[in-house]
This record gives sequence, structure tokens and C-alpha cells, in this order.
Amino acid sequence: MTRITGIRTLDVRAPTSITLAGSDAVHQDPDYSGAYAILETDGPHQGVGMTFTIGRGNDLCCAAIEALAPLVAGRPLAEVVGDGAGFWRRLTNDGQLRWLGPEKGVIHLATAAIVNAVWDLWAKEESKPLWRLVADLTPQQFVDAVDFRYLTDVLDRDRALDLLQAQVPGREARIAELERDGYPAYLTSAGWLGYSEQTVRERCRAAIAEGWTAFKTKVGIDVASDVRRCEVMREEIGDLPLMADANQVWEVPEAIEWMRHLEPFDLRWIEEPTSPDDVLGHAAIRRAVAPVGVATGEHAANRVVFKQLLAAEAIDYCQVDACRLGGVNEVLAVLLLAANAGVPVCPHAGGFGLCEFVRHLSAIDYVCVSGSLEDRTTEFADHLHEHFVDPAVVRGGRYLLPELPGYSADLWPASIDALTYPTGSVWR
Ligand SMILES: [Mg+2]
Repeated sequence: MTRITGIRTLDVRAPTSITLAGSDAVHQDPDYSGAYAILETDGPHQGVGMTFTIGRGNDLCCAAIEALAPLVAGRPLAEVVGDGAGFWRRLTNDGQLRWLGPEKGVIHLATAAIVNAVWDLWAKEESKPLWRLVADLTPQQFVDAVDFRYLTDVLDRDRALDLLQAQVPGREARIAELERDGYPAYLTSAGWLGYSEQTVRERCRAAIAEGWTAFKTKVGIDVASDVRRCEVMREEIGDLPLMADANQVWEVPEAIEWMRHLEPFDLRWIEEPTSPDDVLGHAAIRRAVAPVGVATGEHAANRVVFKQLLAAEAIDYCQVDACRLGGVNEVLAVLLLAANAGVPVCPHAGGFGLCEFVRHLSAIDYVCVSGSLEDRTTEFADHLHEHFVDPAVVRGGRYLLPELPGYSADLWPASIDALTYPTGSVWR
């Protein structure tokens, strides 16, 4: 019986601000980083989980992981995963630590790292990739992992069970389909805002040669350069789906006005047009910019914000984030909320480790929850995968299903040596 004996943290940062990979209208010099929670055990495996940041402050997430560690250390894994919702409630509802959130900010990012590590450990013990572990759960076991607190006016346990039960018959066929075809993806890394027009063209051409069929560009610095960026992308990708991401830069009326200038480019969605907390602002923008869709979620702090976004009909696309939400348990809650509302889930990724995570989450959504690929596509960016033992692989514009046991956060030892902040070789 494996017991979690302690938690170690690791602060790893990649110096991406040198190349401007990851740059957008608001985050102009990110160093893509991971705050790691490593569960030490008395068994053969460690649980490895992380949360994503973009550099400065990654150490605060590590400190918050250490503050949460006593809630986990010493517990048998079977007890933790046998009562997933109860375990998640203990982490997010500590009588003192919850004041730091609740369920938002640094303390919730740290929760994600620990929760993701628990699922990684569980999957490794079962010798399954995370998506398969979840796909093999009964609907009852699935809902046992979800804390329905604050959701029951919209979605309770019984309704969730109905949704999951309805998808049981086709599960194995959908798994076979994903194993054969992969899961549809789109590419963000042709259009980072810091890239020159020439770089964007070269990257679009290379991506099309690799089989990519959907693209996203960053927007939001000024109208003229956004129009030019969209013209360049359209010249290179033709009629393929094109999305745009403003990364929260606009006021609500400004977003509506700005989007009029981008009408000729037939955008599939505008992402994060304004503050991630402004549910009604998103709804107003959505009404004004249709038929362009509105997408958001990478900064939606918790399932309650998603409940509101869906209730207010503020989004066309639900962009869950594997590390912004409190780890796998809360992601499962949001997958259920989205399916209940009939809104497609298109997970946010691209950041350090996020692509490695979302291929599991999208597979879970398709196999267990939504049963649909319609209007769904999962983000991919093409940097930093070399650091991961089980890196995200895309072929012909589709994520391949991961096969190694666990949740894919493990780094190569050489990458840990290089990226550890501030002592690693890239930082010395
Ligand atoms: Mg985004």
C-alpha cells in the first residue's frame, strides 16, 4: 500500500524571453516555467505534477506547494484517490490557507501542482496513461472525484451521472478512433506577437507542410498591425480556420470596435478579449461580434467562474487550463459543466508542460464526457517539448494519444539540471 511520505518542490524556468516565443499583447517577455510538486512515496513511483507560470513568481507557487504539503504528506494513496472529492476539498478548504484564495491565485496554482501529482502517481501505480485511467473509471468513480460545491444549482451529482452514463456505450469505439486518428489540434506558435512578418510566413509554410489545418495569431497591440498580421496569415493559410487571441488587452467597447476591423478575416474566435473576471463583458462582446465566437478560460480561476460564463452565454468555446484550475479533479468538473451547457471544450495549452497535459484532458472529454469532436480543437505550440520524458506529439495536425503511464509531467534529469532556477546552467 503506497504512502505519500513527503513533497519536494522544483522551480524550473526556460529563458523563452530571449526568442520571444510565447509573447502576446500583455505578456511581452515570458520565461515559460513550471512550479513542480514531487510526491515522495514508500513505493516504486514518485508522483510528479506541476503548475505553469511565466517566470517571476514561480518561487511563490513553490512556497505555496510547501504550505499545502502537510495536508497530503503521510497519507496512503488509496485513501487520497478513494475519496477524490473529499481530498480536493481538504486542499482547497483549509481553515487558514483558504484565505489566500479561495480557489484562485497562487494558492490555487499550487493546488493544481499537487493534485496533478496525485493523479500522476495513481496512473503510474495502475501502469496507465492518465486519460486511460479516467476512461476506465465507472461514471460513479468519475463523479466521486468531483467536488460539486457551488455547482448544484446548475449541475449536481445525479445530472453528472446521467451525462456520463449516456457516453458509456461508445467509449471503446471513441478510444479506437483516437488511437487511429489522434485528436484535432491547432497551432499557436506561427503567430507569437514578437515575431516578424517574415518569421510568421516561414512558420505558416512549415506548419502547412507538416499537415497543420488550423491556426491562431496574437492580436491587440494596434489595429493596423493586427490587420496586417491577419492578412499575412490568410495569405499563407488560405481558408483554413484562423483564431485570434487578445490576451485580455481590451476594454469591452474597445474589443467590439477593434473586432470590426478584423471582420474581413473570418475569424473562428476571439480569445480573452477583456478581463478574465468580466463574465458580463464577455457576454456583451459575444453578442456584438457574432458570428465570430468568443473563447476564454486560461485565466478563469475555478469552476464557479466557468459556471457563470456558461450561464451568461458569454462563451462559444470553453478553454480549460490544466494548471489554472485546481488540477484534474476541477477540470473534470468543468468538462461536465461544458457538456451540460452544450459548449465545446478547446483546452488552453502552449505553455511549459500544458500541451503534455491537454492531450489527456481532450481525450477524457471525448471518450467520457462530451462524446463529440464537433467544433473542437486543442491548442499546440511547438517549443520546450524536448525537456519532457513523454512529450506531446502531433502528426498531421492532430495530437497522438500518450502511451506512457502517468500524467506526462516528468522532466529529463539533464533538463532539470539546466532549467532549475537560479542555479541551473541556463541561468548561471
Ligand atoms: Mg490564450
